[in-house]
Amino acid sequence: MDKNKLIEVKDLNKTFIIGGRFFGSKLVAVNKANLVMQQGKPEIFTLAGESGSGKTTLARMILGIIEPTSGHIYYKGKDVTRLRGKKEREWFKKEVQPIFQNPFEAFNPLKRVETYLFETALNFGIAKNKNEASDIVDEALKSVGLSLSEVYQRYPHELSGGQVQRTCIARALITRPSLLIADEPVSMVDASLRMSILNFFHKLKTDYGVSIIYITHDLATAYYVSDRIAIMYRGYIVELGPIEKVLTNPLHPYTQLLLDSIPKPDPDRRWNKRIKLADIEVKEYMALGCKFANRCKYATERCFKEEPYDVEIDGRKVKCFLYSDKEVSTTL
Ligand code: SF4
Repeated sequence: MDKNKLIEVKDLNKTFIIGGRFFGSKLVAVNKANLVMQQGKPEIFTLAGESGSGKTTLARMILGIIEPTSGHIYYKGKDVTRLRGKKEREWFKKEVQPIFQNPFEAFNPLKRVETYLFETALNFGIAKNKNEASDIVDEALKSVGLSLSEVYQRYPHELSGGQVQRTCIARALITRPSLLIADEPVSMVDASLRMSILNFFHKLKTDYGVSIIYITHDLATAYYVSDRIAIMYRGYIVELGPIEKVLTNPLHPYTQLLLDSIPKPDPDRRWNKRIKLADIEVKEYMALGCKFANRCKYATERCFKEEPYDVEIDGRKVKCFLYSDKEVSTTL
């Protein structure tokens, strides 16, 4: 553990039992995930992959919503899988805030939206009283292009989807977090709002020093907004590195499959080739060796027997036998 690291995910695993507790099989949804984000170097880090790749499970473990089967998550040097007491847990919740895909799920339809904002400001001790909370809430809403008067006394259904998502982001900002974990935050909003949220993420990073883990299946928006990307496949991070390198010159055969042209830095253009894979192929999760072997045109006998390890090459980490025999233990 290193206090200079904002977050360090170390050999993180999550195994689910499918088909019954006693006779079921083990499905390793996240397998030996490693990643590091540094303190003082805010960045937008994308976790990308199709449904069933493990990206949401990994994000939920970082948030503490799902308990890892093994491995560690260090946040500012503290192992958050072993937080003790209310004080430590509250500290972590304040520092690391989630933004979910469907903003309407974050709010009870029978509760006025400003109630959540005031509760956040007061319960986390950001404001001492309602007056102070009102200023803090208004400031957070203004940072996302809204104001307290616009949402005051209104229920979620009285706001547009974009307003509700912006209110969710404002709520996340009230605790002044160092890290946001945003799970498909723009997949349910229209093109213009998508742009404004992505630009706002960029502003949060550059102007306020907030780092963001951005979870998406949409490589165009990832390209537009991110500094680095990790591509996940069947529970593994198969390629991790600077966005430009990974998306313009992919090394892992799976990343290559995802791309069929040089990405355009335009989030309004959706990626023109979706991955043609079945949602979750349990068989592939269970397979020995490389999970991608059945689909890989470069697969050799070894790929079906041995699990590939991470190789550091050209400033990135790639999990594939094609590149080197030299295993690396560094976490990029
Ligand atoms: Fe293909 Fe083998 Fe590399 Fe897996 S390890 S991606 S099967 S070449």
